[in-house]
Amino acid sequence: MSEIVFYVCPQCSTLTGDLSNEKVNCHFCHTPMIETEVIYKDAFSNKEIRQSLKEKYAYSNPLYNEELDKQIREQVRKEVDNIKPASQNSNVPKCPTCGSTDIKRISTANRAVSIGLFGLLSGKIGKNYECRNCKAKW
Ligand SMILES: [Zn+2]
Ligand SMILES: [Zn+2]
Repeated sequence: MSEIVFYVCPQCSTLTGDLSNEKVNCHFCHTPMIETEVIYKDAFSNKEIRQSLKEKYAYSNPLYNEELDKQIREQVRKEVDNIKPASQNSNVPKCPTCGSTDIKRISTANRAVSIGLFGLLSGKIGKNYECRNCKAKW
């Protein structure tokens, strides 16, 4: 299985985790992102590494657009504020199909998705849960 690595948007410095050797476009500004050598699970919680990726691939890049970056950070902050109350009520994962809580994790990939704080994982990475009740996967 391919590793999940960091991709950096050269225009707005957004970080995303995705499988290596993919064509990835920025979630926000749709610019093709630059694949880095940094493994997502090694660095998603390491602020210094994330910062150095932004410096190396975005801030020093001629495509980098500071105004756009600020706008997007602001937008992300609002989105994160909006999802907080909902996520507090859903500590127990539930089946989206039948609502059962009798589910199991499939993937071992560390899917610490937190919108915008350190980048998004793309939907292509795979399904993480299976419902024991109705066999739905998501
Ligand atoms: Zn971008
Ligand atoms: Zn179900």
